[in-house]
Amino acid sequence: MNRVNKMYANGKVAVKDVNLTIQQGEFVSFVGPSGCGKSTIFKMISGLIDQTSGHVDILGKTPRDAQKESTDVAFVFQDATLLPWRSVIDNVMLPLEFRNIAHSEKKERAYKVLEMVGLKEYTKALPRELSGGMKMRVSIARALIAKPKLLLMDEPFGALDEITRQNLQSELLRIWENEKMTVLFITHNVFEAVYLSTKIAVMTPSPGKIESMVEVNLPFP
Ligand code: ADP
Ligand code: ADP
Repeated sequence: MNRVNKMYANGKVAVKDVNLTIQQGEFVSFVGPSGCGKSTIFKMISGLIDQTSGHVDILGKTPRDAQKESTDVAFVFQDATLLPWRSVIDNVMLPLEFRNIAHSEKKERAYKVLEMVGLKEYTKALPRELSGGMKMRVSIARALIAKPKLLLMDEPFGALDEITRQNLQSELLRIWENEKMTVLFITHNVFEAVYLSTKIAVMTPSPGKIESMVEVNLPFP
């Protein structure tokens, strides 16, 4: 991101003059008070909204082109947002729906990502039969199925109990290592940021700015 600003239609300046360079393979957590512009930055990176000025470049493409032409970028939201009438496996296959890939390969990939998140036994279950932690696993599997190079996660574990959160944190780190993805992660929890990240972007509010980039040098857990 190069000198990126975002002003919403109501005149609210949510993000001001943000410069941000992230190398492939990094795990960067964004921390800062509510309303400081974390989600706004993620929405611009994923092409859901446009910046007002400045440049956003993802692997040489604009966010919209990165979305349109490939499945390089995936987003996991705070609430798992599954389609309630679809089984687990059909939810997971959603990002491949309009892709020219054989159905058998879609299924194979779905089983593989469901195994990665520990849900192989639940392929036929409906979302309402799952706990909150399991729904979050399904939504992570759905993000992984298209083999994204960049995974954006907006407070994915905020609503989970401590044990479930710890399990999913370890799983995410394992997947991040194995798949060599870049992960951008929003959290309110500084301990979570320190535990997971290679770098922490510390944000200040009104208007949203990145105050510092802190390198984390903990040994891999
Ligand atoms: P965070 O994710 O850090 O909590 P957000 O990026 O959601 O912060 O919001 C940053 C600021 O922009 C907040 O003041 C919020 O109220 C405002 N904001 C977010 N979305 C909109 C919108 N669609 N229209 C107007 N203001 C918005
Ligand atoms: P958690 O400890 O993560 O909150 P739950 O108590 O919600 O877990 O669920 C524990 C087990 O019960 C899980 O294996 C889940 O699949 C199963 N389960 C939860 N809700 C339902 C339901 N409505 N119908 C069938 N199985 C359920």
